[in-house]
Amino acid sequence: MTTIAARLDAVRARIAAAARHAGRDPADVKLLAVSKTWPAEAVREAAAAGQRAFGENYVQEGVDKVEALRALGLEWHFIGPLQSNKTRPVANAFDWVHGIDRLKIAERLSAQRDVHLPPLDVCIQVNVSGEDSKSGVAPDEAGALAHAVAALPRLRLRGLMCIPEPSADEAVLRARFAVLRGLHDELRAAGLALDTLSMGMSHDLEPAIAEGANIVRVGTAIFGERARTAPTPTPTA
Ligand SMILES: *Cc1c(COP(=O)(O)O)cnc(C)c1O
Repeated sequence: MTTIAARLDAVRARIAAAARHAGRDPADVKLLAVSKTWPAEAVREAAAAGQRAFGENYVQEGVDKVEALRALGLEWHFIGPLQSNKTRPVANAFDWVHGIDRLKIAERLSAQRDVHLPPLDVCIQVNVSGEDSKSGVAPDEAGALAHAVAALPRLRLRGLMCIPEPSADEAVLRARFAVLRGLHDELRAAGLALDTLSMGMSHDLEPAIAEGANIVRVGTAIFGERARTAPTPTPTA
């Protein structure tokens, strides 16, 4: 068994244990393997071990991998920050976008999504920690943005996403994740057909699952420590 296959097994076991501990069905928690900074070969290895959904943070690096691995029929999620001048390739290469925090970005994605593709699945990113430095819409502005995004024709609003500030205190993390779950419940009660809470990463997937996460985004625990934080540009032929 390869290292990636063994680590995937270990992550699946963590997810299953956390789900059972919370009285939930492990099958209701989807694992998104975050392959940012890792080469297409690493994705291929994870795919051979049964992993289908992958997350990318950088536009050019992500699009390159989507194209290189098209024959595998994988599901691709864009989870990084997105500038408005880079929406077009993301709108057409990816199946999901998790970090919507401005209407302008959502409008561009909707306008640019190829009519031959199904609607783009999206999540709104909410700043649950209240730090100025973090991206995401403030919790009290999430409702207005959600209703506006849900009305766009080529997008399908699936739910909410967050990245809480790191904390060693499980109670703090659970409180942050509970904010997202509470908003999700409120928006559903207001009539939006949401079904997704994208929360939890390598170090905090257990408290996220305890609070209802149904997509966890895991990179380091599957692929290892990232050697760099920004991608090396792909040389063009
Ligand atoms: C990098 C990243 C992850 C994965 O983080 P790990 O700590 O490596 O599991 C998840 N979500 C987002 C938005 C990321 O940028």
